[in-house]
Formats: sequence, structure tokens, C-alpha cells
Amino acid sequence: MHFDVGGTDGDGTFETERERVSSPMRRLFVEYGRENTLQFTVGLLTSVFARVLDLLPPLLLALAIDAIFQDGIAFSLWGVPDAWLPATKTGQLYLTAGLISVSFLGGAAFHWTRNWGWNSFAQSIQHDLRTDTYDKMQRLNMEFYAEKQTGEMMSVLSNDVNRLERFLNDGLNSFSRLVVMVVGIAIILLRMNWQLALIALVPVPLIALFTRRFVATVQPKYAEVRSSVGQLNSRLENNLGGIQVIKTATAETHESDRVDDASMDYFDANWDAITTRIRFYPALRILSGVGFVLTFFVGGMWVLGNPVGPLEGALRPGEFVAFILYTQRFIWPVAQFGQLINMYQRAHASAERIFGLMETPSRIVEDPDAAAVEVGDGHVTYDDVSFGYGDEPVLEDVSFEVDGGETLALVGPTGAGKSTVMKLLLRMYDVDEGAITIDGTDVRDVTIPSLRRAIGYVSQDPFLFYGTVRENIAYGSFDATDEEVEQAARAAEAHAFIRTLPEGYDTMVGERGVKLSGGQRQRIAIARAVLNDPEILVFDEATSDVDTETEMLIQRSLDRLTDDRTTFVIAHRLSTIKDADQIVVLEDGRVVERGSHADLLDEDGLYANLWAVQAGEIDELPQEFIERAARRRLETDADD
Ligand code: ADP
Repeated sequence: MHFDVGGTDGDGTFETERERVSSPMRRLFVEYGRENTLQFTVGLLTSVFARVLDLLPPLLLALAIDAIFQDGIAFSLWGVPDAWLPATKTGQLYLTAGLISVSFLGGAAFHWTRNWGWNSFAQSIQHDLRTDTYDKMQRLNMEFYAEKQTGEMMSVLSNDVNRLERFLNDGLNSFSRLVVMVVGIAIILLRMNWQLALIALVPVPLIALFTRRFVATVQPKYAEVRSSVGQLNSRLENNLGGIQVIKTATAETHESDRVDDASMDYFDANWDAITTRIRFYPALRILSGVGFVLTFFVGGMWVLGNPVGPLEGALRPGEFVAFILYTQRFIWPVAQFGQLINMYQRAHASAERIFGLMETPSRIVEDPDAAAVEVGDGHVTYDDVSFGYGDEPVLEDVSFEVDGGETLALVGPTGAGKSTVMKLLLRMYDVDEGAITIDGTDVRDVTIPSLRRAIGYVSQDPFLFYGTVRENIAYGSFDATDEEVEQAARAAEAHAFIRTLPEGYDTMVGERGVKLSGGQRQRIAIARAVLNDPEILVFDEATSDVDTETEMLIQRSLDRLTDDRTTFVIAHRLSTIKDADQIVVLEDGRVVERGSHADLLDEDGLYANLWAVQAGEIDELPQEFIERAARRRLETDADD
């Protein structure tokens, strides 16, 4: 028997989601089990039949010993008229052998069906749960993702779902086995000889309690093992990733010591769990051995005609043998009792997390009457917009307007809120106050998919999916032809480098594919936006990672692309946005300056100074700006 008691990992996460759910196991059976009632019924019934057949051979053996091999009692079978039974001993032996064979063959067939039933029940629920959870996860707001680690969500999709699958398969199977074995054996023994049965069944509650206690003791130790192996792995991963730093700092000995410590912690935790675990089997053996010896001694004396103490009546040798065989049968099922409870508790926690996640309310709610957005001119207005991710305001009273087809640049120090302004347009978050409108329609009054389709967003650090370059460019425009993909790539100045890749447009990129530089990824993302042909474009530092020459080339093709579309550009390199129709300077979430490049230079404020530094006209920002920047840095550091 394998003890899998590794139980509470990750149970601290998703606390709020878990609290939201009541009776998760009932929901699991009602919502997901219902569609698989057939498999469940087949699994349950055939596992009962299979176990009942398992219980027959010792009973038949007892009958054979007492009625065939000895002249003790007449040969009779429960529920069968005596007239139908063979009269000769040989005939009775044939019949008994035949019945034993049937019980083995039937048992095999039922065990097969039971496995089929439970497995297909568990597998199809697992599939439905996983796809439903993923579907829901995908639709959750960005806020949810900001708070959670990807690892935590992966753990729900894999560990929790798998754990429920295991419970539905192994758990239900072991549970039905436990019930049938204990109840079945108890009935048979009590019918045969209730007095000896009471003695023989003494170990049942003892073994159950003992294994329950064992699991409760060893479970936290396994949690400790998992936590220490997690720490050891992160240390190893971190060190191998930072090997260059270790070498340049000649910190090899220092790091070896740290790995030694982490490995030692793992060793200690493991050893603690092992010493507890290896006590279990000997103790279980002793417990079951005591039961065996007790039954053997009391039963043996009885067969010899000397019943112990107050025992009365007679015990036949065949019955004695059946008792010995049956008492050995219930030990393992009962020994799984503790593990079953543990499995149930873990499944319960997993179901809570899964259903809790499915019920996470969306802060961004689509108006039921919302229609698809219709962008005409593409006139975008921010009207007194205020917003914070938490309690701290990130944007305060931001107002500006862009005429259809114009380009608006957002500049300002890091953390000023530029990306946040754009996220609000895409409705990744909702404004706290004020409104954002496109051609006079509030973004909260249109359907979210149509809004996001109308806006092409190219980020600073574009993510490429594992797939071909072509698939990555056509992401979102899944029907694009090869020619269209290539045209978009040309427009984004990506065609030339794509052709030099080992398999051109069919080169695999992304996590496990060919590694592309930041600039190359940006150009693929731009090509993606070109191909999607959205009404409004957003470039969030989209060309920050390309060299000046490529940037110039991209700029040229972008000019064509952005010519008649409303475009937002976030840029640090001011040379790229100096021709924008309007420049909005943000500082600490507020609009501090607004106008064209020439206007802002005249204003001689933050923009003019940033420009002067970047153009090399002055060496550094005036003291006033440096002090402000330093103060801001101090404030952010203090927040952290
Ligand atoms: P910018 O684009 O100008 O560098 P951002 O819009 O990214 O600025 O960030 C503005 C402020 O909001 C920063 O203080 C940043 O730490 C904070 N912020 C950004 N994203 C989140 C988020 N998902 N959750 C909480 N705070 C955030």
C-alpha cells in the first residue's frame, strides 16, 4: 500500500475564494457527477459485486472442510434447496470447485467493469473541471492576476484538479471496498459464530483509529518535506540562472554552503517523515497479529472442545479456517481508513478552491444591453479620470481629448501612470471616477471583446506564444493568408529578419523555440497589430528595444499605419514622438503639461528639460527636477 498523505500544499492560498463556497463536494457530485451517472452507477454496483464475490471462496472452503472432508454437517448452500445439490462427496467437491471458479471469473469481470466505471467517471469530471476552470480563469480581471502568482493558478489547474480525480477514482473505490469488506465480513462471521466474531472484529476499530492518528502525525511532516524541497529547488534554479554573477563575484564557496544548508534542511525533514513512516507497518503488523493470535487461540481451543471463558456452543474446523482467512482480509482496507479521511479533506479543499475560483466575481461587468463598439472618427476623450489599483490613487483628474486620426503621446517619469491610462481605455480596469469615451460612447457601455478588438495594443515586452512566427503574427486574425502575414511583417520592418531565421515564417518561437531579441519581438507584435487592422492603436514603449536605425525604419512604416487612425504612443525617447499632434506629460498621476512639441518647449517645464537632456543640449536636468525625482523615488521605496 502506498501512503500518499502529502496534504495541505497550497491550502493557504485562495483563502478568500475558498470562503465563498459551501458544500463543494456536493456541488462536485451534483454539477459534474450528474452527467456521468451511468459510469458512477456501474462503478459502484460492480465494485460491490466484485467484493462480494471476493468474499465467497473462504466461505466455500469452510463448507468443504466441514461437509465434504469430514462427516460433520450436511452439505448445504444458503438459499439453495437441498434437493438440487449433489448427493455424493465427489459431486459436492465438483460443485464447490465450480463455484469457486465462478467467483474468481466473475470477480475478474466485475473488477474490470468497476475500474472502467470509476476511471471513466473520474476522468470525464477531471476534463470538464479543468476546462471550465481554465475558461473562467481566462475571463477573470487583471486585478486577480496582479494579486496571484502564475504558479498558484497552475497549481489549481493541475494539482487540485488531479487531486479531485484521484479522490473520485481511488477514494470512492477504496471507500466502497472498505464498507463492503467490513460489513460483508462482519455479517458472515456474525452468522457463523457471533461470539468468536466479536473477538475477531476487535482489531477493526483499533486499526482504523491507529491509521487515522498515524496520518494526522505524518501529514505535517510531509508538508515540511515539500516546503523544504521547494526551497532547495528555488535555490538551485536561482543559482544556475545567476551562474554568471556567482562566477564574477567568485562566490562559489558561499553558494555551495547555501546549497548545502538547503539540502540539509531537506534531508532533516525527509528523515523525520521517514522515521515516522517506517514505524507504521511494524505497528500495523503487531495490531493485526494480536487479532490473529487471539482468534487462532480462542478458536483453536474451541475446535478442540475447550471453549474459553463464557463462550458456549461448538466451532467446526471449517468455520475456524474461515475466521482466520477473513480476519486477514479486512486489515488492509481498514488500514486505509486514515488515508481515506485525509484524501477526502484534501479533495474538499481542492473543490473549495476550484469552485471558489469559478465564483470569483468580476469587477468589470459588461452591461447586459451593451452593443458592439462602433468607431467612426476615433475621437477619444478622458474626462476627469481618477483611478487606483488599491486605495492609493494612481491617476487623478486626468483629462484630455484626441481627435480622430490624430496621434497623442504620453510622456513622463516611470510610475507616472502612462500604462495605466492605456489599460483603462482597454477596460482592463474600470475608472473610479470620470469617464472615457470613444466617439462619445462610454467604454463601459460597449461589449468588452468588441472594444478590445477595436484597439491594437503593442506593449514594451511583447509575449510570444510557443508556435511559428506566422502563427504569432496572425494571433487574433486567425484567418489571415500567408500574403497578408508577410505584408504586415514588411510594414513592421520584420520581414527581413524573419527571412534569416532557420525556417523563415515557420520557425518556432516562444518559450521553447528560437529566442528572439526584444526588438525582434516588438516588431512581430507590431506586425500583429498591423494585421489586426484596429481602429485605434496603442504603442506602449513599443520601439524601446530596437536600435535607432531600425526604429527609424519602423517609424516610417508606422507613419503610414497611424496616418488615419487615432494613435496613442508612450515613449521615453522623445525624438520618436516629437511630431505627435499632442503630447501629454504625466507626473504622479496628474497631467502637468499638454500641447505640441513646440508648445511644450516654449513652456520650458518638465518636457522642455527632458528634451534638452535627451538632445544633449544640457548635461543634466535642473536641480529642481532631480530633487523631485529623488523625492518620488524615496516615496515609492517607502511604499514598498
Ligand atoms: P508608467 O507606465 O508611467 O511607468 P504605470 O501606469 O505602469 O506607470 O504605473 C503607475 C503606478 O501604478 C505605479 O506606482 C505602479 O507601481 C502602480 N501599478 C501599476 N500596475 C499596478 C498593478 N497591477 N497593481 C498595483 N499597482 C500598480
